[in-house]
Amino acid sequence: MEAPPYSSEGAEYPDSMLSRKFGREVVNYFSGSPLNRVSFLRSNTSFLRAALPASRFLLLRGLDPLASSKTNLGWVKYDSVSSLIGKPYDLDEEKTIEAFDSRVSAPTLIFLGLDEKATDSTFEYSGAGGNYKGQPFFALDVSPKEGELKEKLEKVAEEAVKEPGYEFRKVRIDLSLVPGDAAILAHARSLMDWNSRNQFCAACGGRTISVHAGTKRTCPPFDKAFQKSPNDASFERPPCVSRKGVHNIAFPRTDPTVIMAILNAAGTHLLLGRQRRWPPNFYSTLAGFCEPAESLEEAVRRETWEESGVRVGRVVIHSTQPWPYPNNLMIGAVGEALPDGEKIELNHDPELQDAQWFPIEKVKAALEAPQNGLHDAPPEGYKEGDLRLPPATAIAHQLMLAVANGFHLPSSEVAATAAKI
Ligand SMILES: [Zn+2]
Repeated sequence: MEAPPYSSEGAEYPDSMLSRKFGREVVNYFSGSPLNRVSFLRSNTSFLRAALPASRFLLLRGLDPLASSKTNLGWVKYDSVSSLIGKPYDLDEEKTIEAFDSRVSAPTLIFLGLDEKATDSTFEYSGAGGNYKGQPFFALDVSPKEGELKEKLEKVAEEAVKEPGYEFRKVRIDLSLVPGDAAILAHARSLMDWNSRNQFCAACGGRTISVHAGTKRTCPPFDKAFQKSPNDASFERPPCVSRKGVHNIAFPRTDPTVIMAILNAAGTHLLLGRQRRWPPNFYSTLAGFCEPAESLEEAVRRETWEESGVRVGRVVIHSTQPWPYPNNLMIGAVGEALPDGEKIELNHDPELQDAQWFPIEKVKAALEAPQNGLHDAPPEGYKEGDLRLPPATAIAHQLMLAVANGFHLPSSEVAATAAKI
């Protein structure tokens, strides 16, 4: 079964003063998670201990998630994973760090949040902060590994795919999941990838330990592996700059990326480009990483000029999209070229094979035709030579759609434009 085409009109919020001025919120694919992350409970080991047996676990094998179908993730219960995860929250966080032993391995376990709308969960927790109810969810790494966990990891992964239809999905960029599951996967995948790349401290090279239920890592000051006997004093690791001041914890990385629909000064054409390795006639909006100490608006102007030679004036932020490959935040903007800055020059940065000004009417027609991803064969009904654009699950599509619907026009003209579609 295929998921229905993605619609960004998922915002539950009522019509309001801000929505009347700026339009309805665009909920991009990979955002809009059904889970409440309750991030303040991640270091509360009493909560985590209580939640574990009532939880559902998303298994990831080399970042491929367990799925029950083409459109849905597959979940396993605590009984299936308890022997692998052991008792990770028996000690409070401070004691866990003190008891660090670099010989002991543990699979990465990440608390994702509570689904407060789940009807089949009775889990509830009352603590200092209040009462929290809902189905708890975790992500668990079951990638093959040598060492003491090898057999347990293999067993959990093998048992999980015995359920009919269950498999670890090997999809390069997964755009087929229903939106809620896509958002959960984005969250789990980005954090799992970050954990796997930060097993060692960036400052001293020593092993790090997962804290805050898989959402932070720290460089422990002691290591029991070097204690000759259990009665000896704790073995102190060499001093590490990461243990000083406020930067004593490694936080997950999110890479801000700007992606922009650039209009010509008259508002009649859109600037789109293509990379050499893309399929023929496939174009998209320009994009690039935001650099340190650069505003998003400046990043839009710099990247557009470097890649296309076009000089951009005013820039307006439209919407944003988490992109878990591996951990980008796509920040979507609409910008306009300066009247004397519209000339396309590709010689600065060789990233694009081509960039062109496309009439908005042509972009609109291409958006009305079926689209699919970069790695798919052209959609059914595609005529050779037609413009191909990214599907609705990509923020690039939503930016082009916004412009086709008159995002840049005074509100009196928007109604007239929308009526023509
Ligand atoms: Zn360190």
